[in-house]
Amino acid sequence: MILNSRALALLLALSISVITSAFLSLLPSISTTALIVSFALSFSSSYILVRLVLEFIFFKEITSIYEALDKIRSEELSPILSRSRNAVNPLRLINKGIESYARTKQREIAELKEMEAFRREFIADVSHELKTPIFAAQGFVHTLLDGAVEDKKVRTKFLKKAAKSLDGLDILVQDLLTISQMETGEIKMHPEDFNIEEMIKEVLDQVDGKAEKREIDIELQHLDVPLYVLADYQRIYQVMTNLVTNGIKYSKKGGTVKIFFEQEDEHVTVFVQDKGLGIPEEDIGRIFERFYRVDKSRNKGKGGTGLGLSIVKHILEGHDSKIEVESEEGVGSKFWFKLRLGKVPEYELLNEDDD
Ligand code: ADP
Repeated sequence: MILNSRALALLLALSISVITSAFLSLLPSISTTALIVSFALSFSSSYILVRLVLEFIFFKEITSIYEALDKIRSEELSPILSRSRNAVNPLRLINKGIESYARTKQREIAELKEMEAFRREFIADVSHELKTPIFAAQGFVHTLLDGAVEDKKVRTKFLKKAAKSLDGLDILVQDLLTISQMETGEIKMHPEDFNIEEMIKEVLDQVDGKAEKREIDIELQHLDVPLYVLADYQRIYQVMTNLVTNGIKYSKKGGTVKIFFEQEDEHVTVFVQDKGLGIPEEDIGRIFERFYRVDKSRNKGKGGTGLGLSIVKHILEGHDSKIEVESEEGVGSKFWFKLRLGKVPEYELLNEDDD
């Protein structure tokens, strides 16, 4: 900047003194010495004057504008353009500053609009999903109040149906809470070392009733050595429950769900594979979105909230991992994810030696 003001002052002073000397040289009586002296005087005085004006009025002002812009930009942590002030024209720097500021603002407005659209869509989805179980339960209760309560058989049947709808509502609200807490970062992962095979056995005990009802055979790969992972036990339990439950839900009666592992140096991959309905190619990219269901009609009576895979995705992202899928309609689906291997405790190693 100083360099620029100096160059400009030099240029202006030179022009002024050349013009003054040119005029003076027109006088017939003027000597060469007087011309040189007047050139030197006009050059130095105009140089000082111009320099002072530029430095203290013009450039000072520009510097303060630029500094103000700088402050605004750094406060917003926006990407700051390169600012080798000495080398660049200050006016161009201001222009660039304003441009970058405007671009940041534009980006923020676009993000806010996107968030607003997301919020509106979320509220619409939630209201729609809540409506189904509430309306169903409401219908059964009103029918009972309208007289059906007198008939013992109808009463029990309708109360059971109302209870089922309310149970569904409870699961939906819990899932919604989990999703919203995960999206706002409220849920933190608490990694610990645990035996993944043992944990999956517990999941299978829990879903056993569902599998039996649909005559689904669940096969869990048996491992000769204990397999420990470093992960959040509760959350991975949830992931496995969702994947295995889906495997059961979307399998034909009498189908099979297989769970197996693949170990690498530092990771283990857990697979959940079924030979069920499969997922059409055009839906695969969307099944992890909240409330996305492949084909509403085929999901009828399966009791899902449409949030299971979205929760799975969030949990695995919280483990710096991701959920992957391969599926073919009518053939089956395979879901898998990686986890970091954990430390096998001493007592497990001792047990092994005993064997
Ligand atoms: P839902 O509660 O409806 O099961 P999810 O988020 O768990 O919701 O799954 C989203 C959709 O992906 C399901 O509605 C289903 O259409 C499809 N899907 C999930 N898992 C499977 C699977 N193993 N086989 C076939 N389709 C599946």
